[in-house]
Amino acid sequence: MITVAVIGGGAAGMMAAWKAASRGAAVSLFERQSRVGRKLAVTGNGRCNLTNLNAGPDSYHGTDGGFAAYALEQLGPERTRELFRSLGLLTVAEPGGRVYPLSDTAGSVVDVLRYAIQAAGVCLYDSCEVSGIQHSGDGFRVTWEGGSLEAERVIVACGGMAGERFGGTKLGYRLLESLGHRCTPLRWSLVQLRSDNPQCRSLKGVRADASVTVLRKGGVIARSAGEVQFTDYGLSGPAVFEISRAALEKPGTVVSLDLLRCVNEEELTEMLLRRAGNTPGLTLGDAFLGTVQNRIGRVLVSAAGLKSSDELKNLDEKTARRLAKLAKGFEFPVTGDMGAANAQVTVGGIRTDDFDPATMESRLCPGLFACGEVLDIDGDCGGYNLQWAWSSGSLAGASAAEV
Ligand SMILES: Cc1cc2nc3c(=O)[nH]c(=O)nc-3n(C[C@H](O)[C@H](O)[C@H](O)COP(=O)(O)OP(=O)(O)OC[C@H]3O[C@@H](n4cnc5c(N)ncnc54)[C@H](O)[C@@H]3O)c2cc1C
Repeated sequence: MITVAVIGGGAAGMMAAWKAASRGAAVSLFERQSRVGRKLAVTGNGRCNLTNLNAGPDSYHGTDGGFAAYALEQLGPERTRELFRSLGLLTVAEPGGRVYPLSDTAGSVVDVLRYAIQAAGVCLYDSCEVSGIQHSGDGFRVTWEGGSLEAERVIVACGGMAGERFGGTKLGYRLLESLGHRCTPLRWSLVQLRSDNPQCRSLKGVRADASVTVLRKGGVIARSAGEVQFTDYGLSGPAVFEISRAALEKPGTVVSLDLLRCVNEEELTEMLLRRAGNTPGLTLGDAFLGTVQNRIGRVLVSAAGLKSSDELKNLDEKTARRLAKLAKGFEFPVTGDMGAANAQVTVGGIRTDDFDPATMESRLCPGLFACGEVLDIDGDCGGYNLQWAWSSGSLAGASAAEV
């Protein structure tokens, strides 16, 4: 019986441990936190967006995003849903392809995996932080404070540094570096953006449906659409997370929000002029009544350098056009992000050219495997990162169990 040590009881590690044990290996799973799947339990705002029906190689990035293709081919979104169904988890797909547990609770995903690894006979070491992996005979010695264990194969599934509050750490990079692997520069993505637009504070707490465009040196570098949340430091919300990778790649980017994507600038200008002509007694602050949230309307007026208390009836075409232009392209210069503690995924990681994409085994150190976020692969927003954890974890577990 092959002995396998899996380091990290997150999404990828639990999947790898279950897969290896189901294939007949004797598996030990190490988790530094007091329970497995702690980050998994908070994903998707507690709902766990566990995959996306559109997940394919193009949804992944890194020095070589194509490294993910083989693992995804072996276990894509539909097969992942079937696999979870076989473990007793029912799922639903929402428009746009995002898949959630039918229970709408991330804890259900953790529960089915926890019971699956238990039923498969995985030996769980929780509250146990692995501090070293050394070569030993034909295999490895895994050490932690107060103990050690020999295993023929080791799978490193320690995750990345994003989401520090839920267990994000750099330990996985250090363990793999100690065995000769190299790490790319690290940053993070799927994160809230900071902006020095002074209007952020006045809009704090407001949500809007918007088209989001990232501009750099006048050119468009990324787009998304959906919910944007205004905060005192800048911008948050799913549509902002989606473009955060591109917005943070280089300095000097600007996020432009189209807050009225159902009308064009011309139509909006006419609407504003019509209101000014038809509705006596209103002030400029009421110009956007019925089109955007009232606070957004007033902020647009002030951002255009106008006084909300002025009479709307005096609105001329030039000013109406200026207001329409602003509503269709409200700009927020990006000055930073909210850091690893708040980010959902790490950009960068252990270089994938030193691993075989068909097995997830190290080319430098036979018998050593890695999966999940610790590797230099990150996915788009919307269930893609967990899909990578399932696909790579399953492949690493199956390969490590092979006699
Ligand atoms: C708030 C938040 C929400 C998210 N929502 C979604 C979502 O809805 N959909 C989606 O696709 N992705 C989401 N993500 C991203 C997704 O959770 C991660 O990409 C995924 O969990 C990575 O899986 P992993 O197993 O590689 O790492 P992790 O899930 O981070 O697991 C790694 C585990 O290893 C343990 N560990 C680390 N070092 C050691 C050591 N030395 N010894 C023992 N144990 C160790 C850690 O404690 C941790 O439990 C979200 C992330 C965050 C932070």
